Amino acid sequence: MSIHPPHLNVRPVRAFSDNYIWLIDSPRKAGEVVAVDPGDASPVLAELERSGASLAAILLTHHHPDHIGGVPDLLRHAVGRRPIPTPKPSPIPAPIAVIGPADARITTLTRTVHDAQRCELPDLGLSFEILAVPGHTLSHIAFYGHGALFCGDTLFSAGCGRMFEGTATQMNASLTRLRNLPPDTRVFCGHEYTAANLRFALTVEPTNGDALEYQGRVNRLRAAGEPSLPSTLDTETRVNPFLRCDQASVAKSAETHAGKRLGGPADVFGVLRAWKDGFR
Ligand SMILES: [Zn+2]
Repeated sequence: MSIHPPHLNVRPVRAFSDNYIWLIDSPRKAGEVVAVDPGDASPVLAELERSGASLAAILLTHHHPDHIGGVPDLLRHAVGRRPIPTPKPSPIPAPIAVIGPADARITTLTRTVHDAQRCELPDLGLSFEILAVPGHTLSHIAFYGHGALFCGDTLFSAGCGRMFEGTATQMNASLTRLRNLPPDTRVFCGHEYTAANLRFALTVEPTNGDALEYQGRVNRLRAAGEPSLPSTLDTETRVNPFLRCDQASVAKSAETHAGKRLGGPADVFGVLRAWKDGFR
């Protein structure tokens, strides 16, 4: 028997124009939640107030302000908890664990985690494997556990993050690692970009029936004001061109766009990423 329940209860908190901050309910401690990438404190505090839940830990995937900007205010509001030791002097006391990649640009961490390490939160009944996924940023990590993947701005539904710091080879390798997780993995991305991503996906693969069907489903959800997320890796491997760079249909489309033969999946990925950057 598994010590962890197969599915986590995860709720979306909307922030800014299209960010999602994910709140994971502790499977062990009722009323305690873990926030993933809280770029803004106010919508998280509002959800905690509404639901009567209390924040027990924070997970961070990368250093961008729209993913970490709310941490100081959340720590200030995490009252009634004993301060926990920080690895180095912290600008504010941390009453709860703040876990993320070793990166000097994140100043609020109480615990750094690295590739292939397990991130254990035993009191909360949570355990995640850490996957280094450089590309969007060099220190970007993903948290994988309980059949759920929290991938920040690396993988989006039907798309992927922009390459701000990494190379096409790095980012393609990162996405390939994520693609190799079990197909029923639920994918919790950092942004609601699915509808726009699908327009690009269907430009790359106009006859992809799975993408066309998914577009109908996503459009219905969005019209009803619902998130399109979480997705699943099974869906992503069928509709997301950035996870399909080894497919002949995607490679052919990228070669037509580039006007030349391409060497392999990483080259195809690089062409797709640049194509998408200029796509409207
Ligand atoms: Zn980012």
